[in-house]
Amino acid sequence: MSAGSGRDLVLRVDPIGCRAHGLCAQELPEAIVLDEWGYPLLPTGPIPAEFRRRARAAARACPVLALRVLPIP
Ligand code: SF4
Repeated sequence: MSAGSGRDLVLRVDPIGCRAHGLCAQELPEAIVLDEWGYPLLPTGPIPAEFRRRARAAARACPVLALRVLPIP
């Protein structure tokens, strides 16, 4: 099933790849909060439907591709 077909999605960050640029939080400040070092603190649950488009934009904004939108298995 493809993303966007109704299946629940989550945001996940690669903690090794993340370089604390903070661009992701600018795209979705309602859900992505930065810690004191600039690393994202992500919600653990499904992305609300109204945030899905901007969650994907946040993932695209990551310059090191450390943020992903993934279907919940
Ligand atoms: S934009 Fe990418 S590198 Fe920057 S804080 Fe977000 S996940 Fe990390």
